[in-house]
Amino acid sequence: MDQTETFWHSLAIEKVFNQLKSKQTGLLDDEAKLRRLKSGFNELPKKKKLTKLQLLLAQFKSALVYILIIAAAISFFLGEHVDVYVIAAAIFINVVVGFIQENKAQRALEKLSKMVVPEVKVIRDGQELKIRAKDLVLGDIIHLEAGDRIAADARLFEAIEMETSEAALTGESSPVDKQVKVLDRGVVLAERINMIYSGTLVTKGRGKAVVVNTGIKTEIGRIAGLLKEIEEELTPLQKKLNIFSKHLGFFILFLSIAILVLGITTGRDFVMMFNTAVAVAVAAIPEGLLVAVTVILALGMQSILKKKALVRKLVAAETLGSTTVICTDKTGTLTLGEMRVVEVITDSSNINIIESAKKIIPSTLAEGFLLLQIGMLCNDAVVPESNLKESQVLGSGTEKALMMAGMQIGVRPNDLNKQYNRLDEIPFSSERKYMATLHHKPDRGNIIYFKGAPEKIIKAAEFIKQGDRKVKIYKDKREEIISKYEKLSQRGLRVLAFGYKPAPEDLKKLEENDELFKGLVIVGFAAIADPLRKTVKQTLEETNKAGIKTVMITGDNKITAKTIAKELGLNCQSENVLEGEDLSKLDDIQLAEKVNQISIYARVTPKDKLRIVHAWQNRGEVVAMTGDGVNDAPALKRADVGIAFGSGSDVAKETADLVLLNNSFNTIVAAVKQGRVIYENIKKVILYLLSDSFSEVILIFGSLAFGLPLPLLPAQILWINLVTDGFPHIALTLEKGEKEIMSEPPQERKKPILDFERRLLIGVISFFTAVSTLGIFYYFWKVVGDLELARTVTFVALGVDSLLYVFSCRTLRHSIFNSHFFANRYLLLAVILGGVLQVSAVYVPFFQKLLRTVPLGAFEWLFIGGVSIMVIMLIEIIKWIFIARHKV
Ligand code: ATP
Repeated sequence: MDQTETFWHSLAIEKVFNQLKSKQTGLLDDEAKLRRLKSGFNELPKKKKLTKLQLLLAQFKSALVYILIIAAAISFFLGEHVDVYVIAAAIFINVVVGFIQENKAQRALEKLSKMVVPEVKVIRDGQELKIRAKDLVLGDIIHLEAGDRIAADARLFEAIEMETSEAALTGESSPVDKQVKVLDRGVVLAERINMIYSGTLVTKGRGKAVVVNTGIKTEIGRIAGLLKEIEEELTPLQKKLNIFSKHLGFFILFLSIAILVLGITTGRDFVMMFNTAVAVAVAAIPEGLLVAVTVILALGMQSILKKKALVRKLVAAETLGSTTVICTDKTGTLTLGEMRVVEVITDSSNINIIESAKKIIPSTLAEGFLLLQIGMLCNDAVVPESNLKESQVLGSGTEKALMMAGMQIGVRPNDLNKQYNRLDEIPFSSERKYMATLHHKPDRGNIIYFKGAPEKIIKAAEFIKQGDRKVKIYKDKREEIISKYEKLSQRGLRVLAFGYKPAPEDLKKLEENDELFKGLVIVGFAAIADPLRKTVKQTLEETNKAGIKTVMITGDNKITAKTIAKELGLNCQSENVLEGEDLSKLDDIQLAEKVNQISIYARVTPKDKLRIVHAWQNRGEVVAMTGDGVNDAPALKRADVGIAFGSGSDVAKETADLVLLNNSFNTIVAAVKQGRVIYENIKKVILYLLSDSFSEVILIFGSLAFGLPLPLLPAQILWINLVTDGFPHIALTLEKGEKEIMSEPPQERKKPILDFERRLLIGVISFFTAVSTLGIFYYFWKVVGDLELARTVTFVALGVDSLLYVFSCRTLRHSIFNSHFFANRYLLLAVILGGVLQVSAVYVPFFQKLLRTVPLGAFEWLFIGGVSIMVIMLIEIIKWIFIARHKV
């Protein structure tokens, strides 16, 4: 049978099942495994990643390497063989360092992408379970709900208010209303409303379908063009640095040509001048910068992952650090999300579920029993028949809690469902805040069950259940009910109300209108506790100290929200709380004015979240926002850092920049902290690399301007840049972050990465280093009278100097003596390695020949030490001035 030929949409569902040898209760697990072995995984071919060799070869594609290759070729033709070797060594080192760095970054990124394993809910052998999307096979029954990305092409046989977005496939952005009816054979793909397609999204409702095509045979698999993955984009910072490096590169190229022309016209040797020009270009083009930044970002993402958050986009890694407002959901993030029904309250009874669980005698506590029964029937959580363990129950926290409460008193959900056949439902959504189901029981007829936010149910209720009777509700009674509900909320509990209403025999479908609630009998409330996460209070204090505002957003009511906020130490005065209803009365300008005083939003819908993000952004804030449902996606997209929960919908996860693997607020803050470390490390590397480069450029220019011989030979310049300094700058990318990182306000986003302090430092370091090494050179050349010695001392002074002031660059907050010198072991190792190499350069005969150096004595080392100490002192003085200025 060739699946591609079958018009699944035009077949009666029984025929579909027949052809696929499947049924509504799904395949047997063994059968599914067999089919999987035969058909292969349900996945599309992946873009091939670069092999190690390709990655190595890619390193040659850089302006710096081109320049070096040209220089080597020219030196070769001019017969300067020593230079050819040095340049070849320089190319080699450059390529190897680039390769190691990029490989590291690529591996880190790969590891991250492997963390996202799409899962689907399937029904196999009558049981609902979650499996990897790639294990889906023909005939599998999939259960979909709003927010799911569809993982295979399938024919629907149940669709409740189901809508999908098929833009990925058809380009049509408006949602498609899905139904189960059989269609004509001729209808086009976009109109096959009883089919769902791989790669598209469920935007509303839920449904069940049988898989008819998987992997490459799906509609999306056939569109070859779509198989190409989107290229990884550079982050704004990387783009900026890219442009900066390019501009600087052109400028340096221009300088190098100027050096060449200037040298030749002042009568110097062409070969020497040519090589110098090349060496200056190499010295000053900050090639390592972009790679270093990529590595910092990639490693930063890896450390964030260790703290249980997955960064999905590099951009987020750098934006995280500048976050100024975190808007967080309450449930599951500030709280554990482990909900438990603790009390069931009806008109005549108050049952403490935990204490009296097994003791409830149904006949004496009819209302409470009825309430729990409604809680189990008007419920979409799925309990596996064979396993009544909580961990096996699939569904939202609230619904799981209700299921568990019912099971605690001995009711088996599947038995109950069989007695009360569900005919239709109005599913729960954060917007409507209630759920209704229509059931049929042979001996009782039709009945509608309701559960939802108490305001909704109390307002609609006409009667209250009292024992076996239902009693009309008048004003006093309504007030009494409201007061009961408010008392529960004041304890920080989530409260749900339950009700029912008999329905006519011929009613087969529920419609959402005023009629629906007419005659509603309220039964009572269930109060659900969700403990706070243990360390959240401390974390909130930390964010406060870090100048980050925290805003709590919840679907729960104002009273519950306030109680929880109070326990957490958030501002919870009346003026700090806004309810969804009042929010909708404010226009965008009014909201932007008010937004910074609101720290709690209660009874909000996902739509409100978008407005809240917007309002903060209008005030220039950098906003992180959490969310999990499909309707949260626009807010997550709009936020500077969209944060989804690992347990959230596929849509939310795909839109988000950051996915929390443990849902905890503490993780968000840990990620923000790491974001700050990332940003600081980038600044450290830039400071170090640029001051290093500029010192050499100024030194050479100075010598040309004063008519001195060249103070450094080209080979020596290459050595310093690629050998001595290469390792410390890599080690700087591994800095752990300073302890003050969370006690300062966030970095202003608009502030340039090279702020005034750093620009000044780069200027002063490079100028002073150049002047003092030029002085040394002049002394040994003119006074001592030895050009080779003069060059060697200058060469070593420059090398040693930058090996040492890297310790000053580690922190601008503390003096070098106060900066946990040994905290970055890699840096120590790198500096020791660089030092050994620098010393070998003057004492090992092979290097002496290559670099034309001579051995140095104690006298020369004194000079070298002196210069290094002076440069460090100068940096420290400038730092000290800045530190003092910040303190006042
Ligand atoms: P938070 O924003 O704190 O994470 P939430 O997003 O879980 O909360 P919603 O799920 O929108 O909030 O719930 C809002 C209200 O709707 C709850 O306070 C509760 O009264 C009611 N509610 C929650 N879940 C259900 C459900 N499955 N069926 C009926 N009513 C529900």
